[in-house]
Amino acid sequence: MKAVGEGTLKVWNSLDEVVARLQEAKKALVIGHVMPDGDAVSSVSGLTMILNRIGVHAVGCIADEVPWYFCSLPGAGEIVRPVQLQGKAFDTTITVDASDLARIGDATDLLQEGMPDIMLDHHATNVGFGRLNHCDPHCAATAMIVQAIAERLVTIDRELAQSLLLGIATDTGFFRHANTDEKVLLSAAQLVGLGARIQPIATAALEHRSLSSIKLLAAMLNTIQVVEEGRLAYGQVNASMLEETGCTEEDTVGFVAEIHALHGVEVAILFIEASTGQVHVSLRSKSYVDVGRVATALGGGGHPRAAGCTLRPEHLEQVIDHVLTAVAKALRGCS
Ligand code: AMP
Ligand code: MN
Ligand code: MN
Repeated sequence: MKAVGEGTLKVWNSLDEVVARLQEAKKALVIGHVMPDGDAVSSVSGLTMILNRIGVHAVGCIADEVPWYFCSLPGAGEIVRPVQLQGKAFDTTITVDASDLARIGDATDLLQEGMPDIMLDHHATNVGFGRLNHCDPHCAATAMIVQAIAERLVTIDRELAQSLLLGIATDTGFFRHANTDEKVLLSAAQLVGLGARIQPIATAALEHRSLSSIKLLAAMLNTIQVVEEGRLAYGQVNASMLEETGCTEEDTVGFVAEIHALHGVEVAILFIEASTGQVHVSLRSKSYVDVGRVATALGGGGHPRAAGCTLRPEHLEQVIDHVLTAVAKALRGCS
């Protein structure tokens, strides 16, 4: 066990401690983060499968709906919403891929004393909010931590391998991002060796656009501004753009990558104004700005090269000014 930060009683727990606690479970609840990405869906469905296979009655839950295009992948369609679990009791709650408690949204109501029994994650910004805390930033995806748990508890079959590969493939941008290291490729190769396939994951994650979402993308591309001598680019999706195209916030998945693709840009930012009035800010960097730190300072979190935060401003412009100032400062600090 290693101490986390100074002046705190929190400790990082080993995977062995986590596995021992999982083996004590009878009824378990596995919770992923809101606005679920491939890693959240993969970690929830993978861990739920593992637990069910060792005789634990386990359910996966995410406060927001799992995107329809992931539901064809093993276990993803069985993940439920918190309302479907009202009145149900669990002796073991586990959060996966959530860097802080706020990231699980309304699913916090299902926790005893507002704390999960086990917290599993890979965000360097995580400070530990569970009774047992295992966070490994050297894993490119939380699904890799779940894979390590699987290796200790079950024989990984094709279905489980397929479910785990989703998180590894999506959190590494299909093996293109800077976090694609030897461990990623070995983990993925092992899963492919067990029968998992990349192609159905790529089809689900990358080829699901509706025509209205492509029209929204076109509108967003028209808003792109490039500042800081070409090193910072940002675009926006505002409420009227969503209304005009008949899209929702979920249709903006992957948009920030188009801004990030601009040659010479170090930091790409996408501002998404949801109908609720909240603004979600997606940040990406190419090689030297730690956007995870910037996002954490803004009340969000993430990784050095991909991070985000959600703010509730009076006006969208207010958030844009605020975030641009913070990112420009980080950029200048690196030059
Ligand atoms: P996104 O830009 O929404 O794809 O998010 C990129 C990464 O940033 C995610 O994988 C999370 O690790 C993190 N992230 C996004 N939004 C938030 C938030 N509101 N709070 C904390 N972390 C976030
Ligand atoms: Mn995630
Ligand atoms: Mn992740």
